[in-house]
Amino acid sequence: MLLHDKFGRAITDLRISITDRCNYKCVYCRTGNEGALYGDLPFEDYLRMARVLVGMGITKVRLTGGEPLLRNGVVNFVGELAKLRPELDIALTTNGHLLADLAPRLKAAGLTRVTVSMDAVDPDRFARITRVPNGYDNVLGGIRAARRAGLWPLKVNCVLMRGFNEDQIIPFGMFAREEGVTVRFIEFMPLEEDRVWSPSTVVTLDEILARMAEYRPLVEIPHGRSETARRYRFEDGIGEIGIIAPVSHPFCRRCSRIRITSDGKIRTCLFSVWDHDLHAQMRRGASDQQLEDFIREVVAKKEERHHIGEPDFVPASRTMVHIGG
Ligand code: SAM
Repeated sequence: MLLHDKFGRAITDLRISITDRCNYKCVYCRTGNEGALYGDLPFEDYLRMARVLVGMGITKVRLTGGEPLLRNGVVNFVGELAKLRPELDIALTTNGHLLADLAPRLKAAGLTRVTVSMDAVDPDRFARITRVPNGYDNVLGGIRAARRAGLWPLKVNCVLMRGFNEDQIIPFGMFAREEGVTVRFIEFMPLEEDRVWSPSTVVTLDEILARMAEYRPLVEIPHGRSETARRYRFEDGIGEIGIIAPVSHPFCRRCSRIRITSDGKIRTCLFSVWDHDLHAQMRRGASDQQLEDFIREVVAKKEERHHIGEPDFVPASRTMVHIGG
């Protein structure tokens, strides 16, 4: 029987964070210092969780973190995931810093798609946001290496945070056209370690569209049911952008995701106020059937929606770097 929550949503997408370590300290995500770590698990533990979940109807697995490419053995892990089911969609979200060298091996191991996070198309601004000097060339090199390796089409995710990079909207429109990537702008969510979010820090979908229209006209493209991004192409047919607007236009009703944190907890929503310890079940010697029962019970409790910006909003019990975005 496939996985459904009590609101009738089918759960088909799994995100696994394979480490909560990161080599970047992006202003909208982490603190400027080292921060706390929950740690990570041996790959065979994630593989068992993925195997059980794929048996329950998961069709897409996305590896994330922290920075997933910091983890030695990630290529081999992708290869093991690819053996779980022939048409399993295996995606990766990365900051791209280490992607150039790894792209061909990831592709050969069975990675289907890659999304690179990049929040400015200007090296100095990029360094200010990531708080890492000289990362920009690595990331650009990673994007181009992914293209050569056949990890294509590729998406570039840009979180917009007022005061840092809202002037990058049009430059990213140009970048999408020149590099042939789909640039997806993401509204800033209250999931950062520094707790600086307020409604005024969010650059909204409407604002992004208005700004981009000053550059070139856009035409909306119909999007898939469980797709989080609204999609647009430039009127002349060259270049595509997307906007992921969880704050101004929530898409919880279409949510098909669950997450496993690097320390083996299930999270049913980015904004959950509790985790469900799947790894503890494994440590206690649970059989695959018992893990399945546990997962069904947890998924049944999936939250209906988030409450960002509402008076009853309670911050998530973990920040993005410890959840896996
Ligand atoms: N290190 C990888 C990367 O940079 O893509 C994967 C982990 S990162 C936490 C996953 C995604 O979450 C990135 O696209 C990042 O920009 C996004 N993200 C992090 N904090 C966010 C926030 N507060 N609001 C919206 N998106 C955020």
